[in-house]
Amino acid sequence: MAKKVLVVDDSPTIRQQVSMCLAGGGYEVVEAQDGADALTKTGGVAMCICDVNMPRMNGIEFVEKVGAGAMPIVMLTTEGRPELIERAKKAGAKGWMVKPFKPEHLLSVVKKLVG
Ligand SMILES: [Mg+2]
Repeated sequence: MAKKVLVVDDSPTIRQQVSMCLAGGGYEVVEAQDGADALTKTGGVAMCICDVNMPRMNGIEFVEKVGAGAMPIVMLTTEGRPELIERAKKAGAKGWMVKPFKPEHLLSVVKKLVG
């Protein structure tokens, strides 16, 4: 059965790009438009690719809320502020990728974390 990946981003364009990339790698994709939306969609999810800057609940708050043990979470963002990266890692984020992403890089990161 295909592993399910939760893709969280307030940009429909980014969600589509990431989803297409993951679907091409044989993964099932669930999309959420912000952290609050994502909290309702974690069921059966093997891992999560998560934006940082989003309305309602941002990516860092989402990681802090979900907790480190729930599933591997990798941030995908234009942000690069060290204090944000530090906060995300402290909350349990497994990685920090900067946009724009290379599809083959994203797929290799996902493969490494969930197979
Ligand atoms: Mg955003």
